[in-house]
Amino acid sequence: MTNRVLITGGAGFIGSHTALVLLEQGYELVILDNFDNSNPKALDRVKDLAGSKALELVEGDVRDPTAVNRAFDNCGSVEGVIHFAGLKAVSESVTNPLRYWDVNVNGSRVLAATMEKRNFRTLVFSSTSTVYGEPENFPLHEEMPTVPVHPYAQTKLAVEQMLNALCRSGNWRIACLRYFNPVGAHPSGRIGEDPLGIPNNLFPFITQVAAGSRKKLNVFGSDYPTHDGTGVRDYLHVMDLAEAHSSTLNHLLKQTSPHQLTLNIGTGCGFSVLDVIRGFEEATGLSIPYQLVSRRPGDVPKLEACPQKAKNILGWSATRDLAQMCRDSWAWQRANPTGYRDVL
Ligand code: NAD
Ligand code: UDP
Repeated sequence: MTNRVLITGGAGFIGSHTALVLLEQGYELVILDNFDNSNPKALDRVKDLAGSKALELVEGDVRDPTAVNRAFDNCGSVEGVIHFAGLKAVSESVTNPLRYWDVNVNGSRVLAATMEKRNFRTLVFSSTSTVYGEPENFPLHEEMPTVPVHPYAQTKLAVEQMLNALCRSGNWRIACLRYFNPVGAHPSGRIGEDPLGIPNNLFPFITQVAAGSRKKLNVFGSDYPTHDGTGVRDYLHVMDLAEAHSSTLNHLLKQTSPHQLTLNIGTGCGFSVLDVIRGFEEATGLSIPYQLVSRRPGDVPKLEACPQKAKNILGWSATRDLAQMCRDSWAWQRANPTGYRDVL
C-alpha cells in the first residue's frame, strides 16, 4: 500500500484544511472536486503552506463514474478516501431537494460503488449534527434518535445508512463523522471559508460586518428556550475538525477487521449567538452592530455534542477555544476581503 489518500471536495472549506493537515503528516493526496462551491486557488495555498507538492487535482464530479475512476487511476493505489464533496445549504435543500438527493446520496453511491469495484474499502464520510433533528436532551450522544427535519439532513442520514449496510455486507472500514458547527480558519489567514454571495452562516456574516461590507447582523430569534433566548450551537475550529479527520483515518488504517464508526465531532460546549458576538468583539477589539429579528425558518434552538466517544476511540478532542475561532476567522476575512476571488 501507498500513503496516498483520495479527498473528494478537497478544495472546499473543511477539505482544504484537512488536506493541509494530511500533507503535513506526509500523506500524498489526490483531490477530486468540480469547484461547484470552491476555488482552485485554495489548493495552491494549501501546497504553499505545507511546503509540499504531493497534491494532485482531478477536476470532475463525484456523481460521474468516469471522473471517479480517473481520480483512482491517478492514485494508482489508495490507503483511504475522505468524502467531503456534497451540498450543505439547508434552505436550498428545502427548495431543491432533488439536487440534494442527487449530489449527496447519488454522489456517495457512485463513489462507494467505484471503491468496491477497485477493492478500496476505507472511507471517512462527512455527516452532520443536523441528523439529530430538533432534540430536547443534551448533550447529544451518537445513540440518540436521528429524526432529520429537512432534506439536507435526510440525505446525510441516508448516506450513513447506506454505508452502515455496506459495512455489514463486506470488509469495509468506514467512519461517519457528525460535525457540529465548523468555523474559523487556518491561523495563517491564507485559507478559510469563502461563501458565495450573502453568507448564510453566522461566522462569515459577522466577519463581513466587522469588515464593514455589511451594516449589521440580524440575530435570528431571541425567544428560544436557551440561556439568553438566542440559538445555541457547538462551534468547532476547522483546524480541530481537520485533525479529527487525520485521527479518524489513522484509526481506520489500524483496523484489521471490518469496522464501522459513527462519531460526533464537536467541543461539547455550546455558545449562543449573543455569546459569539461578545466573544468576537473581545477577541478582535471590533464592534459588531446587531438587531434582534424573528426566527429563521428551519432553525433549531440548540445543538450541543457529547464528544466523549471520539475522545475514547480516537484520542481526539478539540483544543481551540472560541477566542481563537474568532481571531482566525477575522484574520482570514481581513487578508481576503473577497475570498479567493479578485472581486466579490
Ligand atoms: P464546501 O462547499 O466548502 O466544500 C464542498 C466541496 O465539494 C467544494 O469544494 C465543492 O466544490 C465540492 N463539490 C460539491 N459538489 C460536488 C460534486 N458533485 N462533485 C465534486 N465535488 C463537489 O463545504 P464544507 O463546509 O467544506 O463541507 C464539506 C462537507 O461537510 C459537505 O459534505 C458538507 O455537507 C459537510 N458538512 C459541512 C458542515 C459545515 O457547517 N460546513 C457541517 C456538517 C457537515
Ligand atoms: N444566525 C443568526 N444570524 C445570521 C446567521 C445565523 O442569528 O446571520 C444564527 C442561527 O439562527 C443559529 C446560529 O446563528 O442559531 C448558527 O447558524 P449557522 O447558519 O451558522 O449554523 P446552523 O444553522 O447550520 O447551525
